[in-house]
Amino acid sequence: MITADFHTHTSFSTDSKSSPERMIERAIALGLKTYCITDHMDYFFPEHNDKGFTEFVFDPDQYFETLTALRKKYRGKLDLRIGIELGLRDEPDVRDDNKKLCDALVNSYPFDFVIGSTHVIDHFDPYYRERWGGRSADDIVRIYFESVLYSVTHYDCFDTYGHLDYILRYVPEGVTIDMTKYEYLTDAILTELIKRGKCLEVNTSRFARGGALNPSTTLLARYRELGGTAITIGSDAHKPERVGGKFEVIPAILKDLGFKEYSVFRKRKESRRKL
Ligand SMILES: [Zn+2]
Ligand SMILES: [Zn+2]
Repeated sequence: MITADFHTHTSFSTDSKSSPERMIERAIALGLKTYCITDHMDYFFPEHNDKGFTEFVFDPDQYFETLTALRKKYRGKLDLRIGIELGLRDEPDVRDDNKKLCDALVNSYPFDFVIGSTHVIDHFDPYYRERWGGRSADDIVRIYFESVLYSVTHYDCFDTYGHLDYILRYVPEGVTIDMTKYEYLTDAILTELIKRGKCLEVNTSRFARGGALNPSTTLLARYRELGGTAITIGSDAHKPERVGGKFEVIPAILKDLGFKEYSVFRKRKESRRKL
């Protein structure tokens, strides 16, 4: 049974309008015991004016003030943890400054948990197909996993890697990606996470809408095969109705793949719960 959701957003994220209270109330109604808010901090986010997304940053002082008060308010009903989803980058002109900002942030504030994610590659968010230029889906998938490999190797500011094969969400309909072509990259990524004691996130956002888990069960099985046991679980909810998305069926799937436990974090320290 999963009693904790460790990937959720609130209106502190540029792409969510939901107040922290509404998200927390929903988590309580679902019977979750632990709830971690992980709002987006993507420094150097490229402009996407068509959606009004020009920045993916929030004020950390205000964030801690608000969430610390809510932690007190809901004590006894729900254990609120304060986390963050950091955007990791590999472009040569951005990566060093981004790393400095990420390190400074996690060293300056008492975060419980940090997700490292790749949302931007080569200065664009692959969600925007028109920005792919002349590149094929295969090129984009390769660039994405190369970027993730750079980030897991060079950044140390995170506890889990978020939605590892997130890029597959944006592959055009009708295009099939042969993931065996990228095994040299995904194996290197999974091996690096294991070697460095980092977790791999099981993200249910797409699965809850009828799609696949991120990462896929194939990649999760490979992670187990390579010796990986540390997973975190998150719905990636941006709205209350998405909190704990399909958590009721996840334990059976993960146990089938050979996982017995999942990880939760407090003050960046990992502990495990039975699935
Ligand atoms: Zn994300
Ligand atoms: Zn997220």
